[in-house]
Amino acid sequence: MAPRRSRPCAYCAEKSAGLDYKDPRTLSRFITEGGKIQPRRQTGMCSKHQRQVSAEIKRSRHLAFLAAATVE
Ligand SMILES: [Zn+2]
Repeated sequence: MAPRRSRPCAYCAEKSAGLDYKDPRTLSRFITEGGKIQPRRQTGMCSKHQRQVSAEIKRSRHLAFLAAATVE
């Protein structure tokens, strides 16, 4: 188990902040310009919330709430 970092992740610090796949504005903070999910070392989130965010992003992608980088 990873030791607790001095800086808590954004969602641990702010418990009221909800993770919602229907909120692309929030989720987009965790996505790179290329449309990829940022690694944890960049987001600074704990593994628990990182997993939640990535799950929500994938769900959001699936439902096309996020503007997927569709360069086809
Ligand atoms: Zn957390």
